[in-house]
Amino acid sequence: MASEVTVCTKCELCKSRKNAVPGVGNAETRMMLIGEAPGRSEDAKGEPFVGTAGKLLDTLLSQIGLAREQVFITNIVKCRPPGNREPKPLEIETCAPYLDRQILIIQPEFIVTLGSHSTAHIFSKATLPFSSITQARGKPRKTCVLGLPLTIFPTYHPASALYNPEYKKVLEHDFQLLKTNLQSTHSDPP
Ligand code: URA
Ligand code: SF4
Repeated sequence: MASEVTVCTKCELCKSRKNAVPGVGNAETRMMLIGEAPGRSEDAKGEPFVGTAGKLLDTLLSQIGLAREQVFITNIVKCRPPGNREPKPLEIETCAPYLDRQILIIQPEFIVTLGSHSTAHIFSKATLPFSSITQARGKPRKTCVLGLPLTIFPTYHPASALYNPEYKKVLEHDFQLLKTNLQSTHSDPP
């Protein structure tokens, strides 16, 4: 599937991208993390979360004993919106079938949604109402996505914590809660 994404021309974001960013990690994982869209560093490398927000994500994962190779990391939209603007609704709609396929292949027990756009998108797939990320974060939601029973775990986007130490503390707190949730279901590695 990644090789399909790499050459995809289904929406206009293909015109300005250097590299599509399908996602990285372990397809056997119990846990997927979903961001919004690739930024400049991700576009240059073809890999999600490799810029400054990505470094913080790596730290948050390592604080709960995980390496990025153990989980699967991707975004809602696989190509960088020019100038890091928000992805347009049509771009999200056009790209979303790739994410659906990733979810169906991986069948994760946990989907960690990073930030409000990712959370709103996955909540809508679970027909859960979404009001704000501040409201939703840190509250695991046992639900069904694409017919799969799983838990959605919303938290802030790591980029939001780069200039705000309070958000970083909240993220660290949420990741500890995530660890407890992972351990409470069973003891297999994530
Ligand atoms: N922000 C995102 O949402 N995704 C990335 O891959 C990088 C930054
Ligand atoms: Fe294709 Fe998605 Fe990239 Fe648009 S954003 S070109 S739909 S892979």
